[in-house]
Amino acid sequence: MTGTSPLPPLSATPRTEHRRLRGNGRTDRAELDAVLRAGFVCHLGVLVDGVPVVLPTVYGATADTLYFHGSVASRSLRDSPGAQVCVTVTHVDGLVLARSVFEHGVNYRSAMVYGVPRAVTDPAEKLAGLRVLTEQAAPGQWDYARPPSRKELAATVLLALPLDEASVKIATGFPEDGAGPDGELPVWAGVLPIRTTLGAPVPDPALRPGVPLPAHLAARPEDRPADPEE
Ligand SMILES: Cc1cc2nc3c(=O)[nH]c(=O)nc-3n(C[C@H](O)[C@H](O)[C@H](O)COP(=O)(O)OP(=O)(O)OC[C@H]3O[C@@H](n4cnc5c(N)ncnc54)[C@H](O)[C@@H]3O)c2cc1C
Repeated sequence: MTGTSPLPPLSATPRTEHRRLRGNGRTDRAELDAVLRAGFVCHLGVLVDGVPVVLPTVYGATADTLYFHGSVASRSLRDSPGAQVCVTVTHVDGLVLARSVFEHGVNYRSAMVYGVPRAVTDPAEKLAGLRVLTEQAAPGQWDYARPPSRKELAATVLLALPLDEASVKIATGFPEDGAGPDGELPVWAGVLPIRTTLGAPVPDPALRPGVPLPAHLAARPEDRPADPEE
């Protein structure tokens, strides 16, 4: 996925048109790319037997497709192909602490994608999609670890959701009560930033002696850029 997408900007549909807090809405597709690229866990909302189910699950994104996967035994994944779903990706960037409890908030980047996923059955596309998903969560692991066997592939369902109908919302900044009457209150106000960071690798106790840490994992977490394009 690239930050400069060849795809058209996000256009509002009846479902994706922002109504509340419109100022936080974004229509640049590059902003959708950036939100999706910054994470690897989404929430997949789907009706299962008429009841809404929201499943936290790993995803991978290309410029035009969101892939997610799981066991063929997963009811929510089994019921998704051909059904309307809504997928959300959320990054919480900070707690916005105001003088009044009412004005407290959250700084965030979030995306919602609507559509009808299809089950990927073509073997080459299935491997390619699983690669995207694996590399997004753990860059370098697809070529390093053992590839999936035919039996493992058969036990895995891979869904592809087009990024045709999506919305993005980004909230930044400070509480809004500083300029109003509450600005006079002797109450500290500001932002507590929230960051998600990788820790140092912890070897599996069952690791065979002499197996070195691969180079793609050996880089100290703090040395890894948060965004490969930064
Ligand atoms: C971490 C986090 C915490 C939040 N906490 C609260 C809270 O406590 N209370 C609260 O009222 N709101 C909260 N929000 C904002 C919330 O997600 C909605 O944007 C807001 O409540 C407006 O909802 P609505 O259904 O009235 O939006 P509408 O404007 O009616 O939504 C119309 C369409 O806009 C799009 N849209 C709406 N919200 C988002 C979004 N967040 N990301 C991407 N697309 C979106 C969707 O496509 C949606 O169908 C939070 C958001 C995040 C990311």
